[in-house]
Amino acid sequence: MENIYDVIIIGGGPAGYTSALYGARAGLKVILFEKFYAGGQMATSENIENYPGFDLGIDGFELAEKMKNQAERFGVKTELLEVTKVELDNKIKKITTSSGDFFAKTVIISTGANPKELEVDGEQKFKGRGVHYCASCDGMFYKNKTVAVVGGGDTAVADALLLSRVAKKVYLIHRRDTLKATKVYHDKLFNSENVTLCFDSKVVEILGENSLKGVRIENVKTKEQSQILCDGVFISIGRKPATEIFKNEINLDENGYILAGEDTKTNIDGVYAVGDVRTKPLRQVVTAVGDGANAVFYVEDYLA
Ligand SMILES: Cc1cc2nc3c(=O)[nH]c(=O)nc-3n(C[C@H](O)[C@H](O)[C@H](O)COP(=O)(O)OP(=O)(O)OC[C@H]3O[C@@H](n4cnc5c(N)ncnc54)[C@H](O)[C@@H]3O)c2cc1C
Repeated sequence: MENIYDVIIIGGGPAGYTSALYGARAGLKVILFEKFYAGGQMATSENIENYPGFDLGIDGFELAEKMKNQAERFGVKTELLEVTKVELDNKIKKITTSSGDFFAKTVIISTGANPKELEVDGEQKFKGRGVHYCASCDGMFYKNKTVAVVGGGDTAVADALLLSRVAKKVYLIHRRDTLKATKVYHDKLFNSENVTLCFDSKVVEILGENSLKGVRIENVKTKEQSQILCDGVFISIGRKPATEIFKNEINLDENGYILAGEDTKTNIDGVYAVGDVRTKPLRQVVTAVGDGANAVFYVEDYLA
């Protein structure tokens, strides 16, 4: 207990490193735990084109290194350790890692959320070069091309609509015979001339040798298989927030996201949730970094 931090940050993606930067610049004693490498999901993207300030885009891994170096320049300590348990109810919070316990007056959770995968042949092979999980991130690569979107919820339909404004042709592949998406999207989708709906269908394989050539789909009722030729596939079947270790400590919504608004405050005093891990409408780098800065504003207020 002799070494109590002002802030412990769990997760070294863009949200975590922005909190770290703001915390250190506010003169707070900050430590950040990251279980893999800096940048989180962002580091897996070869080209971030919608983060302001990089007019030609930037490699996500490079941007992550820059964020990490910037925070560390102001005294942030990074420990490459996994947080395995948290005890948050008391004034001094206990964080258990793969290498022992740490204590802090406040905790910022930035563990992110990962897109769910289809788990079919070809998905890993073409990840990031044909297979994508974020239409607003990567849709522009498919200007005047043909794409398939997999899913039938709000995100999938919003992705299909977004892509219909960029791509020449969009196939929306959904395993049920009706959309799960809210009605407000239906008319727009049905009126989009370049969107073809493939109901009762699931993707069983992503096809291609050196580059992605299409998908093999199977009709879930007749078991009949067919191919759709396309240049890219957007998988929009939901996300899985990394909140397993918090589920008995913090209030989560029905999908496992930490319940927190723009002020990033959770139901526990002194505990904040930033970036993709919290309830929010848009999960992007730019919204993650905004959260990171906001959280420190409230941390300072709480500590004062
Ligand atoms: C392929 C892909 C491309 C994308 N492209 C874009 C784009 O072009 N533009 C854009 O704005 N957004 C893009 N996004 C979305 C963007 O990357 C995310 O919105 C952003 O990274 C969220 O940041 P975050 O810090 O909240 O979480 P994350 O980036 O998910 O980082 C969370 C970090 O927490 C760590 N962690 C989790 N649990 C623990 C634990 N128990 N202990 C220690 N560490 C832990 C993880 O290892 C990870 O490093 C893309 C996402 C993907 C997957």
